[in-house]
Amino acid sequence: MDCLFCKIINKEVPADIVYEDSKFLAFYDINPKTPIHILIIPKKHILSVDHLKIEDKELMGGLILVAKKIAGEKKLKGYRLLINVGRGGGQIIDHLHMHLLAGKPNKDFELRILNE
Ligand code: AMP
Ligand code: ZN
Repeated sequence: MDCLFCKIINKEVPADIVYEDSKFLAFYDINPKTPIHILIIPKKHILSVDHLKIEDKELMGGLILVAKKIAGEKKLKGYRLLINVGRGGGQIIDHLHMHLLAGKPNKDFELRILNE
């Protein structure tokens, strides 16, 4: 399958990995929009939130718990979790991913979120 994030999961493409278990992988965003910018993905190839099925309910809960775990390990005082959905929602990579953003916000990114 020609999916960049599946290639990262399969270690065919390198990434700066922060966390890994049997169901999830987290790695630093290659183009960080805030001082700490991590992507958390399910290993299951799901295109987007729009493609979730009822049986993915527990997986999505797990995705958020991975974010909490990483934030705790990194002792973040606060953070934002963001999922872009579809091109109109700013999603560029078609493998469901959650952005964990922390540190001083980048104004350009904030504006992009609001404008897209
Ligand atoms: P989105 O706009 O929600 O689809 O976000 C995709 C994110 O993936 C962007 O923030 C990119 O900077 C990031 N990205 C693209 N390629 C890579 C890569 N090879 N390794 C890490 N992050 C990447
Ligand atoms: Zn994929």
